[in-house]
Amino acid sequence: MKADERQLGVRSEELGVGIFSPLTSHPSQEFYWLASYALGVDVATLMARKDFTPDELAKLKAVFSRREAHEPLQYIMGVADFYGRDFEVGPGVLIPRHDTETLIEAAKEIFEPEKVFKFLDWGTGSGCIAITILLEFKGSFAYMLDQSSEAISYAKRNLAHYELNDRAEIASAIHEKNFDLIVSNPPYIPSGEIETLMPEVRDYEPRSALDGGEDGMNFYRLIFSQAKEILKPGGYIILETGNATQVTTLKFFDDDFVFVKEFFDLGNFLRCLLFKFKGRD
Ligand code: GLN
Repeated sequence: MKADERQLGVRSEELGVGIFSPLTSHPSQEFYWLASYALGVDVATLMARKDFTPDELAKLKAVFSRREAHEPLQYIMGVADFYGRDFEVGPGVLIPRHDTETLIEAAKEIFEPEKVFKFLDWGTGSGCIAITILLEFKGSFAYMLDQSSEAISYAKRNLAHYELNDRAEIASAIHEKNFDLIVSNPPYIPSGEIETLMPEVRDYEPRSALDGGEDGMNFYRLIFSQAKEILKPGGYIILETGNATQVTTLKFFDDDFVFVKEFFDLGNFLRCLLFKFKGRD
């Protein structure tokens, strides 16, 4: 028996699926999360168990079969961690990435915690970026924009969960102006690269949250052109970025904006750019 089997007292053959195959770099951790989710008990209780009823084995088999088909762990469990907080997620909404927390660090670089400001989160998805900014900056107000009705339904539930309904509006079109900040993790993957993504992303996450057109730049172009109409002079744009070519292009993209700073994610990958709007003559 392998370590997981021994600790849990159950053999993979009993479940009828190869649940101990290396699904990720942390199969063991995933194993416990999924098993504890499937049986509705915490990990400590789970590890103290010696055997399982046929009903419990069926429940374990059901979740491990989904994971073996590469369904993301977060979709199965219905929750993802972002900046140390839980966000409800599921099919139809992009799973928050820890790399995207870099955008929050960029916001902390430009605004003091007590700063009063209003911002637009362009392509809010689950709402993880906007909600985190609202929670980290008590004087902020969010406009959360998304085209996807599925994403909006998750964003609404996450906003309600954190009791932030009176500090945000969720919409599918922009009706406001004079923003202090636009923040966005737009779709930026070049269309031709979508097929090369890992199956968890390619086969399960919404294409509309990933595909940025031929060069991956479609949404950056849209954001910069719209930003001139809706940002205050001196306002900021914080963008998540994909590859190095995009970064180089974006730094000198538009003369109405000054490139201020770049930020690196946990893997030391350039992940975020900060711009300041000069204002228009
Ligand atoms: N970072 C995501 C990924 O690699 C892509 C998110 C996006 O396109 N904004 O899957």
